[in-house]
This record gives sequence, C-alpha cells and structure tokens, in this order.
Amino acid sequence: MMFDSVIIGAGIAGSVAARELAETGKKVLILEQRDHIGGNCYDEKDEHGILVHKYGPHIFHTKEQRAYDYLSRFTKWYEFGHEVVANVHGKLIPVPFNLNTLHMVYEKEQADVLEQKLVDAFGMDSRVPILKLREHQDPEIRQIADYVYENIFLHYTMKQWGQTPEEIDPAVTERVPVLISHDNRYFQEPWQGMPKDGYTAMFQAMLDHPDITVETGVDARERLEFTDKQVLLDKVPFTGEVIYTGPLDELFDCRFGRLAYRSLNFDFVYMDQEDYQGHSVVNYTVSEDFTRITEFKYLTGQKAPGTTIVREYPFAYTGAPGEIPYYSIASEENRKLYEKYKELLLGIPNVYLLGRLAEYQYYNIDAMVLKALKLADRIKEGTGAVR
Ligand code: FAD
Ligand code: UDP
Repeated sequence: MMFDSVIIGAGIAGSVAARELAETGKKVLILEQRDHIGGNCYDEKDEHGILVHKYGPHIFHTKEQRAYDYLSRFTKWYEFGHEVVANVHGKLIPVPFNLNTLHMVYEKEQADVLEQKLVDAFGMDSRVPILKLREHQDPEIRQIADYVYENIFLHYTMKQWGQTPEEIDPAVTERVPVLISHDNRYFQEPWQGMPKDGYTAMFQAMLDHPDITVETGVDARERLEFTDKQVLLDKVPFTGEVIYTGPLDELFDCRFGRLAYRSLNFDFVYMDQEDYQGHSVVNYTVSEDFTRITEFKYLTGQKAPGTTIVREYPFAYTGAPGEIPYYSIASEENRKLYEKYKELLLGIPNVYLLGRLAEYQYYNIDAMVLKALKLADRIKEGTGAVR
C-alpha cells in the first residue's frame, strides 16, 4: 500500500495529526514501537478489572475550547474537579497550597491575619509561584512561603528531578502556584476530567478511519532511514510528510550524546479492599522515596469491590532497555544539544518534529492536541511547519 504520510508514535500528538491528515484524504501510516496505541495516556483494565493508567495518572484539563471540542468528537467525558492532597507528616492538606490549606496549618487567629495579608498583597484569585512568594518583603508572608517551600516543594522536587526548586526551570514549579483562593482543585481550567470510557477507547475512535493504518510493535528506525537530504521508507525515498514524535537523540543513535530525561518506575498494587486512601492522588511531599500514590477508582469514578493504586519512583533516564523517557529537563545546555540534533534535519523539509519528546518540551495533553492540529493545518495549507 502507498502512503502519503508516515507518523512515528501513536500518542496524542501522532494520533491527532494522523486523524487530521486522513480527513484531508491522505493515506496515513502510523508506526508505534509499543504494543498499543495511546502513548503515555494509554489505560487498560488490570487483571482485577480496575481501569488503570499504565504510565501514571492522566487528567485531561484545558481552557482551550478547540482542544476540548476536538477530543469531544471521539469521547464523552466523566467530568470532575481534580483534587490532590499532600501527606505532610501524616496530615493530609490540599495542594496547591491555598487559603483552605492555610487555615489547616495555622491557628484560626493567625490564619485570618495571614489570609488578609495575602489577599492585600496579591489580590483574591491570584496565583503566586512559590519562588516569588519566598522573595516577598513582608516577613510574615515569607514565613508562609518557607512553610510551603519546605513542606510541599523541596523534597517532592528533589525526588522528581534530583534537583532543588531553585535549580530547575522555574516554569516547572509555576505549574503548581500558591492559590490566593479557597479553590481546592489542582487545576483551575473550565474543562477537566476523564474520557468516559477511558483514554484507549478515545484513541481507538480517533484512529478508526479507513485511511489510517496503525502498525504497533514496530520501531520506526527499522523502517525509516534519515540521510542528509531525504527519508527512506523501507529503503525507498519517501517524499510525503514524516511526523516524528519520539526522542530526537535516539533518531540519530545519540551520536552527540544523550538528551537528559527523567523517568519513572510505576509500582502497581491491587488490594482486596474497597478503599485505600480515600483520594485519587496523595502527594508525599516530606517523606518516602516515591512522589505520589494514585488510587485509580477515584480518578475514573469506577465502582469495584477492590482497588488498585500506583506509586511513582522517579530516576534519571539512562537509555537502558525497558526505560522510558518521560520528562525532558529544561536547561540551556540541554536545549543546545537538542538544537544540534535538530540541525541534522535541516536538509529534509518533509520531516516534522511534534510532541513532548520530539520537541523536548513539557506539554500537557491539551497543548499537544493544539500543536498537532496546528501542524496539520499548516501541512494542509501547504505552508509546512515552523521548525
Ligand atoms: P507520547 O505519549 O510519549 O507518545 C509518543 C509515542 O511515540 C510513544 O507511544 C512511543 O512509544 C512512540 N515512539 C517513540 N519512538 C518511537 C520509534 N522509534 N518508533 C515507533 N514509535 C516510537 N498531561 C495532562 O494533560 N494531564 C495529566 O494529568 C498528565 N499526567 C502525566 C503523568 C505522567 C507520569 C507523564 C509522564 C505525563 C503526563 N502528562 C499529562 C503529559 C502527557 O502524557 C503528554 O502531554 C502526552 O502524552 C504527550 O503525547 P505525545 O504524543 O507527545 O507523547
Ligand atoms: N511539585 C511539588 N510538590 C507537589 C506538587 C508539585 O514540589 O506536591 C513541583 C514538582 O517540582 C513538580 C512540579 O511542581 O515536578 C510540577 O508539578 P505537576 O503536578 O504539574 O507535575 P506533573 O506530574 O503534572 O508533571
């Protein structure tokens, strides 16, 4: 069969791009090295019938109507306001730290005064990055900041990144700002929840198109070759679009050295009891080697007599067989190395890099949907991608 486009990776980036191109009449081939579609969003029932997210908890959240509407073509939603608590020396407190949290960790009188100070300083409903809060001129505000830093950010960040909050890109901790509000939700965007029948069902619906062929269990590097000037598919020059969503260094056998990533080990445990922690996600911010425990039934709304949890243990990705690169690590040095790899593609204008790995960026699902739609728009218009 002749294909117009080849996409490497059946995660959200590759799948949205594939659907969009197929709807313009192109014949699309997706090569996916895993034995399933969905990338890191993949979910499945475990042997006890509990729907679990194989690569860690994924909650869809967005303020972008286009992303929500697009995915809504392929799924209905189980909508809820996602809440997270932190286990701080055995006490469970809402995260992001907000005015409710303040009242849980300070006595009422002091909390009332501090609340007023925070509202006066930043305004109700504002979002303050922890590193900014720590620089505030008012010593009492700095005292709250120190509490939040020490009890919410420092140890969790050390586990997740192997670095302190000051050492990592500030944009990372800004994802979880201190909230000057009484909103206990983890995200404030208007649309949040889960695909009603799970992510995998949503991906199946998206890829269910007569002009999309998906081959799983195929490492694209066995089928595609990237020379200075062209791409070969099964040894034959291929001039259609090639959209790559995997790690860029691995496309070139890491010839300049490996790009740095953080990885995770997931430890799934089934328990023959109705409830384990009463919450979907508990972050362990001052203790343990793992960062968080997710109890899936509270994420998906599933009713079952037993329950499955997962603990996440972060570590530095080395590229050893079986390891998966999950998080790019933003730094000037890493960006330079990434750009060096990108230059290897300058002579092949029909190759596009898309996705969290290929672009070496910290994207959420909704951002990925939008980027994939925009790339497909540009390909349709014939204007190509801005690389
Ligand atoms: P991926 O999902 O990684 O897909 C890339 C695919 O390419 C993979 O399936 C891979 O196997 C395949 N591939 C790579 N190389 C090759 C090759 N050589 N040949 C063939 N196939 C190849 N986002 C949210 O919005 N909400 C959340 O709650 C959330 N939670 C997350 C939790 C964790 C633990 C992680 C790691 C991420 C989370 N994300 C979340 C982010 C979300 O996973 C990403 O935005 C999304 O998965 C990115 O999609 P992608 O298609 O770019 O990458
Ligand atoms: N973070 C933290 N404590 C928490 C939650 C988050 O220190 O309880 C920090 C940590 O550095 C983390 C970052 O904030 O990597 C972003 O958190 P988020 O939940 O957005 O990360 P995700 O799991 O979605 O990648």
